[in-house]
Amino acid sequence: MAPDTNTILPARMLNEFVYCPRLFYLEFVEDIFVHNADTLKGAAQHKRVDAGKGQLPTAKKKQAQSDEKDIRDQKLETLHSRSVSLQSERLGVTAKLDLVEIKDSGNGYSPRVRPIEYKKGAPKEGDEGFEIWDTDRIQLGLQILLLRENNYTCEEGEIYYRETRQRVCMAFDAELETWIETTIAAARKATQGERPPPLEDSPKCPRCSLVSVCLPDETRFLQETGAWRKVDPIQQLTLDMEFPSTNNRLDQGPFVEIPEVRLPTLKPGKDVRRLIAPASDTRALYLNTPGLYLSKKAECIIAKDKGKPVGEFRIMDLQHLALFGPVSVSPALVHTLCERDIPITYFSMGGWFYGMTRGHGLTNVFTRIEQFRNAADPELCLTHARIFAHGKIRNQRTLLMRNHMEPPRKALKLLKYLARSALVAPSLPTLLGIEGSAARAYFENFSGMIKSARESPDSKDENNTQQEFPFHFEKRNRRPPKDPVNALLSLAYSLLARDCTLAAWSAGFDPYVGFYHQPRYGRPALALDVMEEFRPIIADSVALTLINNRMLGSHHFTHAGDSVNLTPKGRKIFFLAYEKRLQSPVTHPVFNYKVSYRRALELQFRLLSKVLTGEIEQYFPFTTR
Ligand code: SF4
Repeated sequence: MAPDTNTILPARMLNEFVYCPRLFYLEFVEDIFVHNADTLKGAAQHKRVDAGKGQLPTAKKKQAQSDEKDIRDQKLETLHSRSVSLQSERLGVTAKLDLVEIKDSGNGYSPRVRPIEYKKGAPKEGDEGFEIWDTDRIQLGLQILLLRENNYTCEEGEIYYRETRQRVCMAFDAELETWIETTIAAARKATQGERPPPLEDSPKCPRCSLVSVCLPDETRFLQETGAWRKVDPIQQLTLDMEFPSTNNRLDQGPFVEIPEVRLPTLKPGKDVRRLIAPASDTRALYLNTPGLYLSKKAECIIAKDKGKPVGEFRIMDLQHLALFGPVSVSPALVHTLCERDIPITYFSMGGWFYGMTRGHGLTNVFTRIEQFRNAADPELCLTHARIFAHGKIRNQRTLLMRNHMEPPRKALKLLKYLARSALVAPSLPTLLGIEGSAARAYFENFSGMIKSARESPDSKDENNTQQEFPFHFEKRNRRPPKDPVNALLSLAYSLLARDCTLAAWSAGFDPYVGFYHQPRYGRPALALDVMEEFRPIIADSVALTLINNRMLGSHHFTHAGDSVNLTPKGRKIFFLAYEKRLQSPVTHPVFNYKVSYRRALELQFRLLSKVLTGEIEQYFPFTTR
């Protein structure tokens, strides 16, 4: 799986190796690349130098030492060549040189050349003036070495730092050559080993483009044994009610070996640096007008209805594009969105999540290999499934405690018991029974979180007509939802499944292979697994906000036979509320920093990936207090 020892190393990767061996491993071995502000700026600045033809005059024969002075004394014309690609078989490296300055005497001897590398930052301030950073030193040194290997006469090179507009020269010597060759050997050796550990409390991490994948401080925190506390799985709660699935009682039998369960806990006074951005600057675009046609014009999406332009959206602002019902997209727009890794997701008009189109994205296979290995092992599946179900039940309990007008003591007690029972369920069927019992207790009390018709008086529609309060909830029903509350819950779960599917892809998973949800055609089983813990705190919470803040009324719903659905106007209000919830900040239960719910989704998949690849010991759910 790791590149073999003969793999050609690009010079840029050696630069990453000197910056951080883990960054090198993630990019080169695991093939993970994520743009950040620095890399985007660097790519934009490189556009000009990358546009060159990359030609150099032929290197014929080496200049004799005695003739060198003559050459230096000649007033030679200086030529420039941009974007020059070179390779050395002996070293096993390639490099693309931004700019090469050439002095060719035309007398049949090898031209004298100097590589010039462009960097967006500033030089290092050393004791003796401005210096070249080590990461730049290896890159430039390697370029000189490659030019020499290809028979050009090259004694020095130069870095041009754009921020301060400074040129810093670097001479080539034997010490530099030895360091470069030792570094190449070390990098090549690292490709055959394990993923290196994250740097410790390093100032390099905040600027690293892969910080949101690497999660250096979070990983280190979770690797400390003191970060985990043992959970007493079953607290003997005195229940004055019958446990609903008596056959599955864990404090009666049949007894199984109860696994030791540990969950991470925040240590007082111990802060994990928040190095990931709290929220993304980009937004989702929802389009639900049947018959729309979307095409690309310059850097924008143009939406047309019956041939007339009805909207224009900048592609750079898009996080993803969600299409409801028959909306068409031009092939040119699909190409652009795939190229920029902006997914298009498709839903029925009723909100059923059909599928998605996306670019290649991550090509890393390591996480998926471990995912398939875990999914094939019933014991490992059960270990993960217990945590998903535990998180969901805990969050259901929290939502009831927060929002119920008279928090139901019995149900809260039962949910506490069931959450702990989930952690030690002896089998998947038992776990499903526990989860089902919790869902029953939760939805039996769901109506208590809806402000009654008395408190939420009947609303008025756009014609100022009084509308009846429509949000009477008895039980959960779906496919199709038969009342407005169920219509809201179904749509929220559908959007959340979509977001979990996207987050699973981004973290390198196959969303269709799960541990708790069994594989079924077209079902994103892993996305549904991780979604469990987020159902109450994202989806149910959005539905309750819309109802209790009277943002929707009966005129926002349509009825067809048994089925209830939102009107286009109602859907628009819903999408806004849903996106607002995903962007809203929440304190992470273990790392104690604020992130948006959307980032929290992504974070959970990244942590799950670290569990599967053995970097951290166990998955833990995202629970709120
Ligand atoms: S975040 Fe830090 S430890 Fe992780 S790859 Fe980047 S520099 Fe290395």
